[in-house]
Amino acid sequence: MDTILGKVLCGECRSLQEYDLVSERSERIWNGKACTFNKRIAVCRNCGHRVYVPGLDDINENEFEVKCREENDYILVEEIQEILEKYDVDKRPLSKVMGLGEHTIENYLKGQLPSRRYSDMLRRVLHCYLYMKDYYDNNKDKLNKHAAERMKTKLEFYDQINSHDSTIEAVALYILNSKYEITNMSLQKLLYYIEAFAQVLLGKSIYDNRCEAWAYGPVYPCIYEKYKSFGKSQIIVDEIDLTDCLDENVRKVIDYVLGNFAIYNGVTLKDLSHSESPWKNAHAGYGAKEHCTEQISHDAITEYFSAVNNKFDLSTDEGVKQYISSLGVV
Ligand SMILES: [Zn+2]
Repeated sequence: MDTILGKVLCGECRSLQEYDLVSERSERIWNGKACTFNKRIAVCRNCGHRVYVPGLDDINENEFEVKCREENDYILVEEIQEILEKYDVDKRPLSKVMGLGEHTIENYLKGQLPSRRYSDMLRRVLHCYLYMKDYYDNNKDKLNKHAAERMKTKLEFYDQINSHDSTIEAVALYILNSKYEITNMSLQKLLYYIEAFAQVLLGKSIYDNRCEAWAYGPVYPCIYEKYKSFGKSQIIVDEIDLTDCLDENVRKVIDYVLGNFAIYNGVTLKDLSHSESPWKNAHAGYGAKEHCTEQISHDAITEYFSAVNNKFDLSTDEGVKQYISSLGVV
């Protein structure tokens, strides 16, 4: 809205005046249905009459379109742009690979409304790469070699980060599908606390993998490698239903740990782990930033967290909170 601030000509005052933006309820027919929205109109600050502000009609048009699409669950133009980025594909190859007319995506990007069916197709490929993989496998011959290669690279990457062959990979995906913003650093610490809480609350390990006492806290190397390409950024994976891979008790423990620990960022979680003996003992003898691959044994985790559990009762949120605050980090 910055570009249209300032004074405009008021027909009533016959001079340049400042103005205020106010809401006005407006109803229009969109895709055969009535849709109401609050459009913004400008009124002269001096006399209260309506004034014309360049650009405001376009802004209202845009907001109206977005609101109608959201209300009727139609894909937004910006979501179609996300699809292009997600699969490193241009407008025409995307049309071709999805079996649409050559200019279809281009027209959608210009604002044309897709049919219900095409809108749903686009939504699916945005949220789950497996749908796009199907289109790609069926139609890749319609793409030129360069476009096909680019898409293939992306699809292989999504295959790698969204697949799971082991329980720890499934748990990692479950964490990444949660509502929390997860980085590779926080993911490692959460896996560690999930293992610790499984020992205490279920009396067993969820996964066999041992974590290592790296400089920045406990790390499971296989998971670290898998998501390394995200660096310090949030890890984004597709929506995956993991209820068949992880039983209910395990999911409860994960949800419980996430509720108590995923509220902290990776650095804070690292600091927490640094003040606990399993990491401290395994890392002993190494410099603060020195690379260390000493394993933290299951026994060390069980022993430490059983003692913590006796003192704080880790089966209650209150107990977990007291334990965390006793570490003096947060
Ligand atoms: Zn006026």
